[in-house]
Amino acid sequence: MTSSTAINLRDYIRDIPDFPKPGIVFKDITPLLADGDAFAASISGLACQMPANVDALVGIESRGFIFGAALAQQTGLGLIPVRKPGKLPADVHGVEYELEYGVDRLEIHRDAVSSGHKVVIVDDLLATGGTMRATVDLIHQLGADVAGCLFVVELAFLNGRKLLQDVPIYSLISYE
Ligand code: AMP
Repeated sequence: MTSSTAINLRDYIRDIPDFPKPGIVFKDITPLLADGDAFAASISGLACQMPANVDALVGIESRGFIFGAALAQQTGLGLIPVRKPGKLPADVHGVEYELEYGVDRLEIHRDAVSSGHKVVIVDDLLATGGTMRATVDLIHQLGADVAGCLFVVELAFLNGRKLLQDVPIYSLISYE
């Protein structure tokens, strides 16, 4: 039994209706971060799902950095940031992806991963899957392999997994 099952992580995630816009129920993970035992349990739970022989973790801006950094420390791996446009200082590779209205873009340093590297991507929450799809594409375009995508929370009713059928997905908490 992992510590994430001893502590019920759902108790530390609250719903904020109509944030950031009407109709969205925002899953607020800040109570989980604020509780040392719950935060540690979430990181242990993610660490249990790490595949073998991973070269690095990739964290997605911005809450993916929080979980990614803690998981990197727990597993002894380094952390590679995937960021919004214009934030990374060196030569970047970027990918554009569709939002409900308009497009967005994510970037990674070109030299952060190389051909044959095996990475695991970390984010706080899987909703429609568009953000993770774009990040998986970034990694693949640089020639590296994605050994898994880890989430703390999954909104299963949005079917984000359908966009991610080519990579292993794991979430600690799923809302049906
Ligand atoms: P998506 O690309 O639709 O899977 O959205 C995932 C990203 O948006 C994650 O980085 C989440 O932090 C954020 N996000 C989307 N929907 C929610 C929600 N209902 N509550 C909290 N964060 C969300």
